[in-house]
Parts: sequence; C-alpha cells; structure tokens
Amino acid sequence: MSKPTILTVDDDPQVVAAIGRDLAGQYGAEYRVVQASSGTEALMVLTRLALRDEPVAMIAADQRMPQMTGIELLSQARAHAPGAKLLLLTAYADTDVAIKAINDIGLDYYLLKPWDPPAERLYPVVDDLLGDWRRANPDRTAEVRVVGHRWSERGHDIKLFLARNHVPYRWHDIERDPEAQRLLDLAQAAPSDLPLVLVPDGDALRSPTALELAGALGLHTSAQQPLYDVCIVGGGPAGLAAAVYAASEGLSTLVVEREAPGGQAGQSAAIENYLGFPKGLSGADLTQRAMAQASRFGAEMVLARDVVGFEARGPVRAVLLDGSGAIEARTLVVATGVAYRRLEAAGLGELTGRGVYYGVNASEASQCQGDEVHVVGAANSAGQAALNLSRFAKRVVLVVRAATLGDTMSRYLVERITATPNIAVRYRTEVVSGRGDGHLEALTLADRASGATEEVPSSWLFVFIGALPRTEWLGPDVARDDKGFVVTGQDLAAPAFARRWPLARAPFALETSVPGVFAAGDVRLDSMKRVASAVGEGAMSIYLVHRYLATV
Ligand SMILES: Cc1cc2nc3c(=O)[nH]c(=O)nc-3n(C[C@H](O)[C@H](O)[C@H](O)COP(=O)(O)OP(=O)(O)OC[C@H]3O[C@@H](n4cnc5c(N)ncnc54)[C@H](O)[C@@H]3O)c2cc1C
Repeated sequence: MSKPTILTVDDDPQVVAAIGRDLAGQYGAEYRVVQASSGTEALMVLTRLALRDEPVAMIAADQRMPQMTGIELLSQARAHAPGAKLLLLTAYADTDVAIKAINDIGLDYYLLKPWDPPAERLYPVVDDLLGDWRRANPDRTAEVRVVGHRWSERGHDIKLFLARNHVPYRWHDIERDPEAQRLLDLAQAAPSDLPLVLVPDGDALRSPTALELAGALGLHTSAQQPLYDVCIVGGGPAGLAAAVYAASEGLSTLVVEREAPGGQAGQSAAIENYLGFPKGLSGADLTQRAMAQASRFGAEMVLARDVVGFEARGPVRAVLLDGSGAIEARTLVVATGVAYRRLEAAGLGELTGRGVYYGVNASEASQCQGDEVHVVGAANSAGQAALNLSRFAKRVVLVVRAATLGDTMSRYLVERITATPNIAVRYRTEVVSGRGDGHLEALTLADRASGATEEVPSSWLFVFIGALPRTEWLGPDVARDDKGFVVTGQDLAAPAFARRWPLARAPFALETSVPGVFAAGDVRLDSMKRVASAVGEGAMSIYLVHRYLATV
C-alpha cells in the first residue's frame, strides 16, 4: 500500500521548500511529502491522488497566495481528500481569518509563521493531527473482523465494545456480505456461533463476552497489585482526570471500567465547550489522549469489569468485582457518572439493541446510511446526536415533548439543527410504542396536545432522555439522595444526612459519608454535568486524597 501523502502548498519557493524539508525529515519514513506552488497545482495533485484512491493525511497551505488563498484551497480540497487534516500557515495579521475558518471550513489548526524551532512549534501540532488521522484511518490489515447479523443485540454490544475501546474492526453482515460466509466457513463456525470475532493471531471467538474479548485483545481485566493508594471506579472524564493526577503525583493508581474508557463523553461526536480546543474535539479523541496520559504516568486500567460492591475493611477500602475478586486500596474515588434512563413505551424493551439504542457511537451513526432515523430528547446530547446522524441518515426526526428546544438545548446547537435540511423536529410529541419482527420497524408517535397517534416507519431509534446514577453497589454506608446521587462535603451537614459522618473533623469537599471515599463528576449530588467540571472534580479529588492520607 502507498504511503499516505502530506501536501504542502506555498507560492514562495523558499517557504515551501523549508516546510517540505522539515516535514520530510520528521515524517518521511511513514508519509510521502509532496509540494505544490499554488492552489491550482495543489488541486490537480489532489485530483490525481483521489483517482488512484491514495490517502491524503494532511494539507498544509499558506494563507497568502495569489489567485487562491489558503482557506479557499482548503475548503475545495475537502471534496478530493475528505478526511485529510487541514493546517493553515498564517501571519499574525491573519489570525482572525484563521479562527473564522475553524467554523466555516472545519480548519483543524492554524500555525503562525515562522515555525522555528520545528521541534517546539511544528512537530507537536503535526504529531497531534497525524495521530488523529491515523486513528480515524487505521491500517486495514491490522483489523479485527466481526461476522454477525445486522440486528443482533450481541453483535451490537461487541461492535460497541470494540469501537469504544478504540479497536479498529471490520464488520461483515451475514445477510449482505459474501465475505461473511467465507469467514464463517474458514473458522468452521455454525450460524449459532454468531457473532464471530476474528482477532489477528488469535482463535476465532464464538459469541464472546466482553471479558473474553478483552482478554483476547490483550486488555487488562484484573489488578496487578494487592493494594493501591487509590482505586478509581469509572473511566469517564472524572475518573481519567483523577488517574492522571494521582499517577503523576506518585500514587499507585488503578482505574476499573466496566464498558470502555471515556464514559458519556466518549459518545460525543463533538465536545465544543471544553477549554483549549477551539474547533472542539470528539469524545473518542479526548479519551484516547487521556488514556495515553494516564498510562504514561503509570496508572493501571482494568477493563470490562463491573464493580458490584463496596466494603470498608478497617483502613482499607475494597471494591468487589462482578464474577469474583476484589480490589483493595487506601482510598476510593467513585466516578461512575450516570446512565441513560430507559424510555417507557410499549414494545421497546425487547427491541433494545435491535434498532433501539441508548446513546449513539460513531460506528452506529455510519450504519444508518440512507435510512430514516428517530432521536428522542431535547438536551444537548440529543442535539449533538441528531447532527452527527444527519451526516449519514437520509432524514433525522428529533422527537421532543416540549414546544421548543431553546429551554433545554444550547443555542449554537439549536441554530445548527434548524439550518440542517435533513433534520426535522416534531415538537409536543412522544413515542408511545415500537414494533418490529426481530428489529425495529415502526414507531407510534402521539401528539401531546390532541392525543392523535400516527405510526411511522423507522429502523433506528436513539434515546437521550436524561440520566440517573447507578450507585446501589455502594451499599448503605455511603450516603445518597433519593435518586442515587452521592452526597459529599458540606452537603453531608444537611439534616437528612447529618448523622452519617463519623469523624470529629469535617468531611473534605468531595468526601462521602465514608472517610477516604470520594466522589467526582456526574455521580455527585449537585454536580454540573459537564466534561470540564468532571475533569476538574477528578483532579481535585486527588488533592483531597493526599489530605486524607495525611490524617491516617
Ligand atoms: C452524547 C453526549 C454528549 C455530551 N456532550 C457534552 C459536551 O459537548 N460538553 C460537555 O461539557 N458535556 C457533554 N456531555 C456531558 C459529559 O459527557 C458528562 O458530564 C461527563 O462525561 C461526566 O463524566 P463522568 O466521568 O462524571 O461520568 P461518565 O462520563 O458517565 O463516566 C462514568 C464511567 O463509569 C463507568 N461505570 C459506571 N458504573 C460502573 C461500575 N459499577 N463499575 C465500573 N465502571 C462503571 C461507566 O461505564 C462510565 O465509563 C455529553 C454527554 C453525552 C451523553
């Protein structure tokens, strides 16, 4: 396979030669660096590469060129090289234009000239961009392959597990793809063995559990040490931030995650309000970066294990794992977030995972290609999902109980939804039932004002109707409110919880009613339910862990 291309464009021969030289020196082993001296020439190069189906990883163009500016070129280049990362080289005077291009053409980054020394000013930016590109365009030869039925719930769970753990895979639909039958025959598998997972250098896995799959992929599923300084339950933004701070400060640290790192944020196609990322970043990207950071500092990660119980064993805080086993630590950070509420409508229960989904990830979105899709919910998560799905689906119908979106959804999302031609919003409407033979085929929608009902064909329903914490596993000693949110710090002084705190000293800000057990992020009573606040609380919990450890 040919190397992916990095295309550099500048009308100044010295500049184009300099950036070409710097990029070829650093990335030449894996990428082909090609130079063009004008926008027109660059478009010709891109056309040639597109015709030969050769990948383009990045285009770096100067803004000030005669005839065609860098932004004009990059906006046209999208059609020839859809996934390529777009980098604009600018002078300080063009900064405003570059910032505007982030919104207008999806510019990935702008770099002020000159970029000397490249090790400080060029390579970190390009490393990031190429890393993102690589993740979105994995080497197809290294892929895991999954053979199954399109509407199988197990198949869906396996695809979700792989996608959310950033394991590239190829999906072979047994009804539509002739390759699926060939793989089934090769593995001498029967239809009852589906879904079948083929792991490079491994055996064929027949309808594996998440734990079996994690083991086959070499992910850790058990703890390596008998006792940790801090055990963090939940690998969402709060848990991963706690892991980064704990491990970087020398605490022996373990994170237990039952599904995949990233939590709810991992499902977001674009987090646009997280500080420092003016273009926004996807949840998958944020997760990947946080995981790399946590493991660089030495945090351990146990995946595909559900924490089902908690015990205070003298000074030790222990969590019990599903199946068998326990993890012991001197302190515990509960960062288990929230999970979507189920939509109570007749017939939907048995269709969950067969057309009815709670949340949506990128691989599901792309499978809706050309279909009609329904999304239920009126908060930002539903709005983001509708926009993401609209890139693939023929039409997205957002089903909303209220008469407006403005009260529950950020304005920037409402504006984008209104401007997207293939998204329709049905206000004052609710889903009352769903039906289908083996998978979702139709929904019944009711007009809340008139009570009139209508059956509409639909194969995909994505539900975003608020979320609740699942904290029963914490047992009776850790105080929670009536919805299950964990009570911390000063809130423990409220009359309802006043007698729960056992020590003479006051609890630390994020400390629960059990000393040495902290809660961070969405699971905490009165938390803000945002990525930034979850990250902030995760980091802060470690400061409090240090203060607690100094008292025992
Ligand atoms: C689609 C979507 C889009 C969003 N977009 C934005 C946005 O643009 N900006 C923004 O600021 N916020 C956004 N949010 C909200 C944001 O994602 C959350 O506030 C944030 O993820 C909370 O982080 P957390 O770590 O507290 O919990 P979570 O993200 O919920 O993570 C909790 C983790 O704990 C794990 N877990 C739970 N129980 C157990 C157990 N018993 N054992 C082991 N593991 C367990 C879960 O599997 C999960 O991975 C969005 C949310 C969604 C769903």
